[in-house]
Amino acid sequence: MVTPGPAHRAIADALGTRATLMAPLGPLTTYGVGGPAAVLVEVEGPGDLDDLRTALRDSDLSTLVIGRGSNLLVADAGFDGVAVHLGAGFASLTLPDRHAVGMGERALLTAGASLALPVLARRVADAGWSGLSWAVGVPGSVGGAVRMNAGGHGSDMAACLARYRWVDLLGDEGGTDDGARLAYGCNIGAYFSGISSASLHGWLWLAAAFVGSILGTRLRPLFGLSVEKTKANGC
Ligand SMILES: Cc1cc2nc3c(=O)[nH]c(=O)nc-3n(C[C@H](O)[C@H](O)[C@H](O)COP(=O)(O)OP(=O)(O)OC[C@H]3O[C@@H](n4cnc5c(N)ncnc54)[C@H](O)[C@@H]3O)c2cc1C
Repeated sequence: MVTPGPAHRAIADALGTRATLMAPLGPLTTYGVGGPAAVLVEVEGPGDLDDLRTALRDSDLSTLVIGRGSNLLVADAGFDGVAVHLGAGFASLTLPDRHAVGMGERALLTAGASLALPVLARRVADAGWSGLSWAVGVPGSVGGAVRMNAGGHGSDMAACLARYRWVDLLGDEGGTDDGARLAYGCNIGAYFSGISSASLHGWLWLAAAFVGSILGTRLRPLFGLSVEKTKANGC
């Protein structure tokens, strides 16, 4: 079981009522199980984030952002770091004016990280927009969905995200980035960076792709499917 030490207490003292020592994490997750966080910080707005970054500046504790906890299983021993929960101050939603945009044109909305994804999907549809209906059954938050690249029904967050704003809790950095960069980082980027850095996952993936292709080509005729053959082309 985790035990708060001087570093945890220093952060709790600095943040006052926003921080709780030995806070149970189970209630913040879908499964409802697991031990406590040594420190849980409730962050209600950007000002709280700045205070948290200041409090964390000289600590070497790890951090864990908790969205709606639908993809988190907390160990019974708990989390020996600083868990951060984004509150209602991050649940904003700004929708574009449907009448100001022509039929078939794309438009941008802005959503806060703690907004529930099903709420986002419903409010977008209620306002007459399409494009996010896939998200209505994903029980996460916008932040968690971006982090996990949540998806379903043939679409995902990476396909819908134009830009995102990020904050480094353990440093002074922060800013905005293109959604495409995130998509790249989640999928193809992870594959190529794994190969180029000689990481085991990249090479296993590459080998599995080759084996899968060969196997697929051999099995296609068994299902009455044709196998495309490339003619030798002397040039
Ligand atoms: C019944 C059920 C159905 C589901 N269906 C789907 C589905 O159809 N498609 C799908 O893709 N997933 C599905 N999921 C999984 C889950 O809903 C998604 O992964 C969702 O995106 C997680 O969001 P969350 O806010 O709950 O994140 P959490 O579970 O709270 O956290 C998940 C990860 O994201 C990080 N994180 C959370 N918020 C932030 C933030 N603001 N900033 C940075 N990091 C953050 C956390 O640190 C953690 O690493 C399902 C889960 C359940 C329980």
